[in-house]
Amino acid sequence: MTYFDTIIIGGGPAGMMASISACSCGKRTLLLEKNKQLGKKLAGTGGGRCNVTNNGSLEDLLAGIPGNGRFLYSVFSQFDNHDIISFFEENGVALKVEDHGRVFPQTDKSRTIIDCLERKIKLLGGQIKKQCQVVSVKKDKQFIVKSTDDIFTCQQLIVTTGGKSYPSTGSTGFGYDIARHFKLKVKDLEAAESPLLTDFPHKKLQGISLEDVSLTCGKHQLSHDLLFTHFGLSGPAALRLSTFIQGGEIAYLDLLPQINPKDLLEKIQANREKSLKNALREFLPERLAAFFSENYGCKVKQLPGKKLDQLLQQIKGLPIPITGKMSLAKSFVTKGGVDLKEINPKTLESKTVSGLHFAGEVLDINAHTGGFNITAALCTGWVAGSSHHY
Ligand SMILES: Cc1cc2nc3c(=O)[nH]c(=O)nc-3n(C[C@H](O)[C@H](O)[C@H](O)COP(=O)(O)OP(=O)(O)OC[C@H]3O[C@@H](n4cnc5c(N)ncnc54)[C@H](O)[C@@H]3O)c2cc1C
Repeated sequence: MTYFDTIIIGGGPAGMMASISACSCGKRTLLLEKNKQLGKKLAGTGGGRCNVTNNGSLEDLLAGIPGNGRFLYSVFSQFDNHDIISFFEENGVALKVEDHGRVFPQTDKSRTIIDCLERKIKLLGGQIKKQCQVVSVKKDKQFIVKSTDDIFTCQQLIVTTGGKSYPSTGSTGFGYDIARHFKLKVKDLEAAESPLLTDFPHKKLQGISLEDVSLTCGKHQLSHDLLFTHFGLSGPAALRLSTFIQGGEIAYLDLLPQINPKDLLEKIQANREKSLKNALREFLPERLAAFFSENYGCKVKQLPGKKLDQLLQQIKGLPIPITGKMSLAKSFVTKGGVDLKEINPKTLESKTVSGLHFAGEVLDINAHTGGFNITAALCTGWVAGSSHHY
């Protein structure tokens, strides 16, 4: 039985950063990861480029974390997105900021980020054990952590096993079992940042991707990029809206939110000698122009005023019935998790089990894609690792 000051279960962004901060505090640290590689889910973010954080203000961060972002005030006062950016730059990773504040490594490769975190852990003397699946955790005077082949003991245990979405990446919900074992409440799990399902004619629109459109449902209006897929809608605007709806609603898509209806009418009429399809191609992708003009093979000037009004209404608010969302396993993020009432927001330690900390998506925190979940994971990881309150 080898003793460590701190053991961290789960080598995603939260676990890797917890390991770095624990080592920086001089703790003898072990990081356990069941996969062959660290950061498997992280590697797939941002289309494989690793959307490592978002460079927005504190207000932007809180708006990007609709699931209990306010719990993170104290965490962000200790370590925030700007500290993440400084961390990577100080450790030799050049970053760049793209649309909507999304931050990526300049290499456009997730490996750059994961290698940097792994190198730093090793440089600070932290131990990493890969292909090591933890199967049980107990507490006597110290924590006893059992993996398939070993037993370890520690004073501080940090659980960073992630949520329960995309289980093929390793996040299968084991951390919730640890919480329940110690009699901590776990809030019901739900799919968040889910692609939306619709019966809308996807065949005709499948594959069309749109930049900065606006999707509205009830009081929720989300402006971002959108993708028509074979099952319905994906892309950030759809994923964000999914947090607020269940299915059975109608979402309205404004394809040109930058132009008001009056200006749009004038622009279309300025092309009155053109066919409707060619006039619409001035503002819309070709396949959408074809979709809207399929019943009107005429020139703009031949289109009855009433039809033009209807067309404008459709372009500014295309009704799309949402029939449901993807399952939790196929959603990007898990809503629910370890109940925050159980957790000290300054240290991320359990209020009832001393030395037991949780960080990352295992907590009942869910954020929009765009770097906000990863920010929450890295920052909570840092705070849990640096805690001395046990
Ligand atoms: C396709 C995709 C794209 C995404 N894009 C974005 C994005 O653009 N922006 C954004 O902010 N977020 C994005 N996310 C969400 C983001 O990746 C997660 O919120 C983040 O990785 C959570 O970090 P974590 O460290 O808490 O958990 P994870 O990254 O899930 O890591 C948990 C680790 O724990 C390990 N583990 C679990 N159980 C055990 C055990 N018993 N023993 C040992 N190890 C164990 C797992 O193998 C895993 O490696 C995306 C998610 C997906 C699936």
